[in-house]
Amino acid sequence: MNIVLLGAPGAGKGTQAAKLVEEYELPHISTGDMLRAAVKEGTPLGKKAKSFMDAGDLVPDDVIIGLVTERLQSKDTEKGFILDGFPRTSAQAVALDAELSKLERPLDAALLIDVDSEVIVGRLTSRRMCKDCGYIGTAADATCPKCGGEMYQRDDDNEATVRNRLDVYEKSTAPLIDYYRGCDLLVAIDGDRDPDVVYADVKKSLGL
Ligand SMILES: [Zn+2]
Repeated sequence: MNIVLLGAPGAGKGTQAAKLVEEYELPHISTGDMLRAAVKEGTPLGKKAKSFMDAGDLVPDDVIIGLVTERLQSKDTEKGFILDGFPRTSAQAVALDAELSKLERPLDAALLIDVDSEVIVGRLTSRRMCKDCGYIGTAADATCPKCGGEMYQRDDDNEATVRNRLDVYEKSTAPLIDYYRGCDLLVAIDGDRDPDVVYADVKKSLGL
């Protein structure tokens, strides 16, 4: 099962990816993590990516696609993969499709964990973290339930920042969602439910 995972920040796609990874042993390929690792390890593609990052430029699509195709040579991707963080635009999706078809490993689904932006704003702005142990709770936790430490709100969880992040996400991914819908690959799941209920729906919709 070859999957592209889509969803706004705070929609819970990380939770769903973790469940799929655990049950089906599909590798979770996060392009952000891969990029950081390649740069750290100094691979040829990592060096190329670093030159753009050092100049303050976005890493070009072909470099990221190179990383992804390189990653897909690993044996652990034989049963499939979950691609997270890429593509972000429809142009990137077209380029990715071309590469995957060369590898004869086309996508089976673009899985969208769909949550209304007002619900996400509510989720993220009520998030609080423990200063001492990093526990993630909500505004309802006066002190950390794990260690009794002081709870605080991260700067990027304030409402204006959250709304800005969601705007950026929606502008860039709306055409991407249309693209996958047009290819008949889009599987949209209502993510505003208990994570286990969402997961049951994910499995059913993917035919797993
Ligand atoms: Zn704590």
